[in-house]
Amino acid sequence: MAIATINPYTGETLKIFEPLQKMEIAAKLDLAGKAFQEYRQTSFLERSHWLEQAATILDQEKADLGKLMTLEMGKPLKAAIAEIEKCALVCRYYGENAASFLADVTIKTDASHSFVKYQPLGVILAVMPWNFPFWQVFRFAAPALMAGNVALLKHASNVPQCALAIEDIFYRAGFPAGVFQTLLIGADQVADLMADDRVKAATLTGSEPAGISLAVASGKQIKKTVLELGGSDPFIVLESADLETAVSTAVTARMLNNGQSCIAAKRFIIAEAVADKFQKLLLEKFQSLKIGNPMDLDTDLGPLATSNILQELDQQVKKAVESGGKILTGGHPLTEMSGNFYPPTIIIDIPVDTPIAQEEFFGPVALLFRVPDINTAIKLANDTPFGLGASAWTTNTEEQNRLIQEIEAGAVFINSMVKSDPRLPFGGIKRSGYGRELSIQGLHEFVNVKTIWVK
Ligand code: NDP
Repeated sequence: MAIATINPYTGETLKIFEPLQKMEIAAKLDLAGKAFQEYRQTSFLERSHWLEQAATILDQEKADLGKLMTLEMGKPLKAAIAEIEKCALVCRYYGENAASFLADVTIKTDASHSFVKYQPLGVILAVMPWNFPFWQVFRFAAPALMAGNVALLKHASNVPQCALAIEDIFYRAGFPAGVFQTLLIGADQVADLMADDRVKAATLTGSEPAGISLAVASGKQIKKTVLELGGSDPFIVLESADLETAVSTAVTARMLNNGQSCIAAKRFIIAEAVADKFQKLLLEKFQSLKIGNPMDLDTDLGPLATSNILQELDQQVKKAVESGGKILTGGHPLTEMSGNFYPPTIIIDIPVDTPIAQEEFFGPVALLFRVPDINTAIKLANDTPFGLGASAWTTNTEEQNRLIQEIEAGAVFINSMVKSDPRLPFGGIKRSGYGRELSIQGLHEFVNVKTIWVK
């Protein structure tokens, strides 16, 4: 895949970048290694000051940074600006909390003094996706830099200008040179990086094949990884739910980022007793969404990020129909529009045991299933190789407890959509990956948990 900015709204190639050559990568690795030796000596106070500066730049430049994101990957502008604001939030969260999260922890033993000390690991590689081009990077970088690590970013090939803008923000914020560097490289250059002694660990957000590839490369070197992969999150609505709110939230949860979010609600599992009403309301709301130029502030749904994503989604919808699914609305690319547009789509009656029912639909397509009771709802929710998030709607406390207890996922949100929050850990189980980002758990992923014993 070429490293290039291609406007998903017009299909126009705006800028192409040459991938870095081996010598250039070696120089950046060298700089990162040297920067770490000095940066690890800086205080939490200094690091949190630089992160605060980064947050200020983000706040001041959110309109332009939002436009850059929208230009490269098609996210509606208002969502892009909100994403920049969230990046400022995560900088401030870790700036304020990292020192206490990383403070020594005394543990009483038969030593005169024994404790746990958290120390940085060194150079951490971040392989990041295009769907939240700023947020995914900042939610890794803020804790990693606060812990005293330095970062190398290999961003998705379709968001190179976002990648360079992020490097520039950290530099202008005052972080020493080499503490955060962007490498404009292809996916095929990642395994070599993992084999370099200076790179100590890696994090990847993206698809399953990319995760497997990184895990294999780092496994060979016994290096730690955190993987945030795909999801096919269930959105369960039971009889007692507040249906109006559930439907409105269902639309937001499915259409997030033009449907291209790992934690978007993808499989709607609805109790038979309320299914007709839910389906009718969902259809009305899907059909009323405004599709158009993502730069317009009143656009609800912009184009998909790349023509590949559009084609893959189209194939999946065709397979769903061949497997017995029926299209309620949408179902074909919007060829009358110039960009990668796919309309809001609802598919009903897909047999639950067909392979397509297990897949992740990375676009504005909702699969709707009807279930007779909570047992079937939980079984269907868990009947997927993924385990990222789940949203479940019921006012019955017993049902809530069962859903919390029995759903196989990294997060269960009751009467709300799944969302990330700097204060809460974020990550999946099963084929959605391992490790956690955000919160204290995210900060502890890339540190040496050192045991100290003094007799
Ligand atoms: P990819 O996995 O193709 O891309 C993500 C990143 O991985 C890019 O930087 C890409 O580089 C890189 N990459 C791709 N292949 C390899 C490889 N073999 N070795 C090393 N790096 C590689 O994902 P998509 O662009 O297709 O994104 C969509 C998928 O990602 C969905 O399944 C979605 O659910 C998942 N995702 C998960 C999230 C989570 O938080 N759990 C968040 C966002 C997306 P390049 O662009 O150069 O190919």
